[in-house]
Amino acid sequence: MALQMTLFEPEARPRPPAQMGRTSFVEREAKSILTPATGMMKSYDFMLNPYRGCQFGCSYCYAAWFSEPEEMARWGEWVEVKTNAVRLLRKERTLPGAKVYIGSATDPYQPVEGKTQLTRSLLEAMVEMSPQPRIVIQTRSPLVVRDVDVLEKFDNVRVNMSVPTDDDEVRRAFEPGAPAIVRRLAALKMLHAAGIATAACVMPMLPLHDPVEFARSLRETRAGKVYTGYFHAGAKQYTTGTRPEALRVAKRYNWTKERYEEAAAMIKSELNLDEQGQMAYAPL
Ligand code: SF4
Repeated sequence: MALQMTLFEPEARPRPPAQMGRTSFVEREAKSILTPATGMMKSYDFMLNPYRGCQFGCSYCYAAWFSEPEEMARWGEWVEVKTNAVRLLRKERTLPGAKVYIGSATDPYQPVEGKTQLTRSLLEAMVEMSPQPRIVIQTRSPLVVRDVDVLEKFDNVRVNMSVPTDDDEVRRAFEPGAPAIVRRLAALKMLHAAGIATAACVMPMLPLHDPVEFARSLRETRAGKVYTGYFHAGAKQYTTGTRPEALRVAKRYNWTKERYEEAAAMIKSELNLDEQGQMAYAPL
C-alpha cells in the first residue's frame, strides 16, 4: 500500500524557487532543528530557525557573524531551506512545554516563506503537542499575519516585530531588503486585533525622524511591550556584533550612542517605559 503523505511531510510542501531577486535557495537536510539556548537567550530552552541565512540581508545583522566569513560577505544572497525540519521537530521528545524562540538567526517570515510555508508547518506541528511549547517569534515581516489562524490556537505565543526606525529612507539605507515600516506597524495592529500578544522591538534603534511621533505610532499598534536598544558593540566572527557596513551607514547619519540615548529617553518618557532592550528576549 502506498504511504499516504501528510501536510507535515517535506514532499507535500511547496518547494522554494531556485532564486528570488538577489537570493538563491538550496534545500538541505539539517542534522537538528532545535538549538539549546545559551548566552542572552538562556532563559529559553531552544532556538528554532527554519532557514539558514536570511533573504532580508540587513546590514547590521548579528546572525551573519555566525556564518562562515565568505558566507557573511554575501549575507542576504543565499538561504538554505531545512527540508526535513518538520520531521525532526516531531521527533523532539523534550519540545512539549518547552520555551522556544523562533528566529534567532533568520527571519522565519522572509519572503520565501510565502512559497514554502515551512514556518507555518512547524507551528502546525507544535500546536498539536501537549503541553504546547511556549513560543516567541522574532520577525520584521508582515507575512506573519498569514498564520494568525494557527497562532491563535497557542496558549502562549508572542510576536516580536522589529521596527527599528520611523524613516523609510533610513530603513532602505540599513535594510533595503526588508518590508516598509508602515506595513510592520499595520501587522502589529492586525495581530493585536486577533488577540495575539505582541512586542515592538526598536532594536537596534536606527536614526529616527521624530522620536515622539514614532512613540505615538507604536502606542497605536497596541503592542504589549516596546523595547529599545543600540547596536551591539564588537565585531568578531562567531560572536554577536555589528557589521562594518552598518557602522559605516550609522556614521553617515552621525548616529552615535549619545543620540540613541536621547531618542530612547524621549520614547520611554512618551510611552512610560522602563524595560531594557534585553527583556525583548525574555520568554513568556
Ligand atoms: S531579518 Fe533578522 S535575521 Fe534577517 S538579516 Fe535582518 S536582522 Fe538578520
